[in-house]
Amino acid sequence: MRILTFDIEDWFHVLDNPATDAPAAWPGLDSRVERNTDRILDELGSRGMRATFFCLGWVAEHHPGLVRRIAAQGHEVGTHSHAHLPIDRQQRGTFEADLVRSMKVLEDLTGQAVTFHRAPGFSLTPACGWAVEVLLAHGISVDCSVFPLRRPGDRFDVPLGGPFTIHSPHGRLLELPVSAARCMGMRYVCGGSGYFRLAPQGVVRRHLARDDYVMSYFHPRDFDSAQPWVEGLSLFRQIKLRVGLRRAWSRFRRVLDEFDFVCVGDAVRRIDWATAPVVPLTRHMAGRPSPLEALPLWGEKHAGR
Ligand SMILES: [Zn+2]
Repeated sequence: MRILTFDIEDWFHVLDNPATDAPAAWPGLDSRVERNTDRILDELGSRGMRATFFCLGWVAEHHPGLVRRIAAQGHEVGTHSHAHLPIDRQQRGTFEADLVRSMKVLEDLTGQAVTFHRAPGFSLTPACGWAVEVLLAHGISVDCSVFPLRRPGDRFDVPLGGPFTIHSPHGRLLELPVSAARCMGMRYVCGGSGYFRLAPQGVVRRHLARDDYVMSYFHPRDFDSAQPWVEGLSLFRQIKLRVGLRRAWSRFRRVLDEFDFVCVGDAVRRIDWATAPVVPLTRHMAGRPSPLEALPLWGEKHAGR
């Protein structure tokens, strides 16, 4: 089973870059997300394929017609947050406000409840267990925010890159992580974004040929060789963002020629969740504050508490 997903954000929505982190700067940049996403929609439409689109709330506010078109063409719409901040850079309150804002704009545009979520930077880790409580409290039932190539201790204790559930006292979150493969004792990812562009085509095809579980993920900018250079990024990161862009679209179309894909909702219905690994959300994980909340406030510190 191969799952086809897209994160709908613009070329300047890169992480950890002070020059483009502030939403106030985004309206002044030349947006390319509509034309790039429309090309994807046309391609999927011509093939009768459905996918899941995790949309930034900010993109939805500035390009409402785009989100309406995605939904009108039968695709699923999930949230990719509002302002594209990784979970671990936020306090619980700001994460919740950002999530609610994105869900409201997406639900108003599509007329459908948003129940799927993907965090920017695949930033759901055991240290952010508190975010699971927030997601469940707001009706998110399926999350796709776990990246398998993290260090031990920074990743959930489950087999490599397959679906699992996170159980909390308030409910059960179904987790569909990015899929990974193993080769010569090494783990690797090749089903999405820069990894898809960089990996040899044979490696990608071998990964996609698996029948059990493949989670792909793409951004509209992954196929846009004419996008501007992102101000403030190191040369190394610029190269990572741009390598393989020219051939990415034709590679993507060949993959669609060769393999069938399903959307997240269809995958959830096909997976036998009774046999999927379970991660209990321990009191420690759920109650652990975000790193920012763990710091004393300036006033507290200087009051000698
Ligand atoms: Zn993103």
